[in-house]
Amino acid sequence: MAEESISISSKIDPKFRYEVIRMPGGEKLLQCFQCGTCTSDCPVARFSDKYRPRKIIRMAQLGLREKVLSSDFLWLCASCFTCTDRCPQGVEVASVIRVLKNMAAAEGRIPEVFKVLLSNLIKTGYIYEIPESRIKKRESLGLPPLPKVNIEGLNKSLQGMSIESFLKGVSEKGREAKLWV
Ligand code: SF4
Ligand code: SF4
Repeated sequence: MAEESISISSKIDPKFRYEVIRMPGGEKLLQCFQCGTCTSDCPVARFSDKYRPRKIIRMAQLGLREKVLSSDFLWLCASCFTCTDRCPQGVEVASVIRVLKNMAAAEGRIPEVFKVLLSNLIKTGYIYEIPESRIKKRESLGLPPLPKVNIEGLNKSLQGMSIESFLKGVSEKGREAKLWV
């Protein structure tokens, strides 16, 4: 399927690319010459018509700050680093995407699902709450209990990471998991 073109009707921030290249992992953003290797090897792009790492890189180069930081597709990256391994220009594509996600998160633009996953992690040490039925099923199959998570240690290691601000606006369910204070 032909790739959708980038609309540059949104505001361009000429300084945006420099913000990205100042961040660890973002340094080689401007070396991208748009060959498309990252997109063709990306396992997520294989299953999505919208997700295109080459396009994310181009949007960052062009300074489409608002467009790239507000887009949901940024969060589809599975951080598998295939793109980084394959880029002929040495662009750390996965790291650039991480930088962009961090910038979006700093502005409070985090999809609800990730906030809930973070809440679960803080509460249980697992990103998904494991239902009692699943634990019983394990027992009935003679499987060992799940490894115990050191929640206190986990919360300690998260201290100073502005977790509270990341969870702003999280659902009631997620709020109940506020164990780090
Ligand atoms: S593989 Fe590298 S050079 Fe090619 S489009 Fe992706 S980031 Fe740009
Ligand atoms: S790190 Fe992200 S963009 Fe790169 S190949 Fe993996 S899923 Fe695709």
